[in-house]
Amino acid sequence: MCEICRRGFLGGMAAVGTAGVIPVAFAQGTSDTRFERPAITLPQRGEFVVTNAYVITMDPQLGDIPNGSVHVRNGAIVAVGASVEAPGVQVIDGRSRIVLPGLIDTHWHMWHTLFRGMSGDKREDGFFPTVTRFSGAMTAKDMYASTRLAAVEGLNAGITSIHSWCHNIRSRAHAEADIRAINDTGLRGRWSFGQAIDQSAEQTIRLADMEALHKDWGAYSNEGLLSLGMAWRGIYRGNAYLPTEVYKTEFDTARRLGLPITVHIGTVKTATVGHIEGHAKQNLLGPDVNIVHGCSASAAEIQMVKDSGASMSILPETEMRGGWGFPLIGEFMSAGVPVGLGVDTSALGGDVNLFAVLKFAMAIENVRAGSEFKLTARRALELVTIDAARIVGTDKQVGSLVPGKRADLILVATDHLNMAVESDPVHLVVESTQPANVDTVVVDGRILKRSGKLTHIQPTEVVDEARVALADVRKRANWR
Ligand SMILES: [Zn+2]
Repeated sequence: MCEICRRGFLGGMAAVGTAGVIPVAFAQGTSDTRFERPAITLPQRGEFVVTNAYVITMDPQLGDIPNGSVHVRNGAIVAVGASVEAPGVQVIDGRSRIVLPGLIDTHWHMWHTLFRGMSGDKREDGFFPTVTRFSGAMTAKDMYASTRLAAVEGLNAGITSIHSWCHNIRSRAHAEADIRAINDTGLRGRWSFGQAIDQSAEQTIRLADMEALHKDWGAYSNEGLLSLGMAWRGIYRGNAYLPTEVYKTEFDTARRLGLPITVHIGTVKTATVGHIEGHAKQNLLGPDVNIVHGCSASAAEIQMVKDSGASMSILPETEMRGGWGFPLIGEFMSAGVPVGLGVDTSALGGDVNLFAVLKFAMAIENVRAGSEFKLTARRALELVTIDAARIVGTDKQVGSLVPGKRADLILVATDHLNMAVESDPVHLVVESTQPANVDTVVVDGRILKRSGKLTHIQPTEVVDEARVALADVRKRANWR
């Protein structure tokens, strides 16, 4: 172990106060990137009842329940209602609190987080050159530090489910480190295996590693909280094609393994043929395909997406910050295409705040419609709860607060300055909530944030680890 790794390793041990080593996830890393890390013990799934809260269930039958209760036992919701009997269990006082399903992100390059604020003001310092420049200097340990910073920031901000679009897989250890960072935080979601960002167009992604992870996924899934997918490059690089045997081999491998596929399409504006159309014509869309962006989609292409059964992840904040195109949220929604949102990348979007992304979505839809009423707050909230769950395949487990589902929920405080005075709870969630108002976060019945503080993670330790990692990466990249 190098000295820097050792320092990070020991720092992690001291901060979380745990012992032992998990060998499984890191056993097959390449020699230059392998590192070990102490096991982190997540809080136990207990039994508790949230009482006297305003409960937004996001379920059409149950609706909203003012002065409601939610009873959780062993990771599952056992009762939701105005009067819930749960004698003798831990009580979480829900007065001045809104309870709602945890937020679900559908697209996030979590490994970018070290580079927050570094997309500069000149072309050579822009987003793509910046993340590409540093990607090759990242070890597995740096991947862990960056993705863990993302995961913990997201958890603190009310995100209970992520979709890590991991495309800096330079070794199996890089992949395993990214997975481990999510699992150590306790989040639910999907982890999608991609390329190394600067990978040659002539090579496929590390398909043998992807197959190996798939075969052993039980050792990586954190008791089923995390599922595996493939982050695909698609058929284009700019306006040119990747070699057919490369993109077909990648696509066919994912299909053979039964892995859901996610692909960036539709930010190139100079294409002679629409890029969605290009994929549709080769029969490379389907219900197992999630398309990211779609800003350049024509009406005909939107219909092609609908006909294929594919879903969309639209990222209003970064698509506009990057100047990539206008988010077509309403167009895809009104065509009947499943739509989810995402934070995408902190290297461009800055902080991790799905509440803010919701505000972007509402503002975009309303200004284009010339109407205050185009996208309602409640419809917007569906995009980061039950609709997003459908996109990542977890709607039977989470996305709404219904007895029998797993307990992923958050409490938002309404007695803070920016939330006062209590009025319409759904509008307050979408228009006023900030991460600091997230009082409690529960994932799979584990209380991971309570009374505004994370229960099993020291934020200072996470930030310190990321700071060391960025300094190391900059040094290795020989960057000023
Ligand atoms: Zn992306």
